[in-house]
Amino acid sequence: MKLTVLGCWAPYPRPQGACSGYLLEEAGRKLLIDCGNSVFSKLQAVSDFRKLDAVIISHLHPDHFVDLFALRHALKGSFWDKSRSTKLDLYLPKNALDFQSPLSKFSDAFNIHYIEEHLQINIGGFSIDFFETAHILPCWGLVARAGHKKFVYSADTAWKEAYPGLWQNSNLLLCEASALEKDCQFVQGAHLTAGQAGQLAAQCKAGRLLLTHFYPEYDIKLLKGEASKFFDQVELAREDNTYYI
Ligand SMILES: [Zn+2]
Ligand SMILES: [Zn+2]
Repeated sequence: MKLTVLGCWAPYPRPQGACSGYLLEEAGRKLLIDCGNSVFSKLQAVSDFRKLDAVIISHLHPDHFVDLFALRHALKGSFWDKSRSTKLDLYLPKNALDFQSPLSKFSDAFNIHYIEEHLQINIGGFSIDFFETAHILPCWGLVARAGHKKFVYSADTAWKEAYPGLWQNSNLLLCEASALEKDCQFVQGAHLTAGQAGQLAAQCKAGRLLLTHFYPEYDIKLLKGEASKFFDQVELAREDNTYYI
């Protein structure tokens, strides 16, 4: 599997940057995981959006989904060109659509599916399973498998005493690291500190830990330093970089 980081900032991007967005590819199949601020622009720099096989949104905080609005317009085509008729599979948290939400109109460009426990998606060489995280809104992390390789994405999550078996033994754990230890009280109940991400990688026996979901004002090298106290193989997600799993 090949992972391209399209965006790694939260809750707003650095200049030229983007919030959460990851392109996961295997044998020509393409999965967009989260679509936060500026991700659609970043996506177009590396891939044709018409070639996506599916989009998965972990939860409905704007830094994870707001560029769906741009993607929807692009999929629908220009108002003078109605020739594009193929809808894209979009996976959202089950309670995502309500009558107030503008997303309720998205069925004109997407086939909408709901994420729930025990949902498994099979796309080409991928199989995707989901687990619910501990966050402010309903939020789903995922496990992608291709052959004997395993990729885990934490999405947004607070620390939990017990993590489900799905987290175990990944080749690559892409994990949020929203705060330094000194700021732990600000993220309690919503996000992980970098140190907790390191502890989690060790507990779950990850092969490598890729930190993401950075607050733009941090010196992110400090986040890596705090995670590295608990786990050896730590990298920082960088936009436009690719990681092979
Ligand atoms: Zn969130
Ligand atoms: Zn977030």
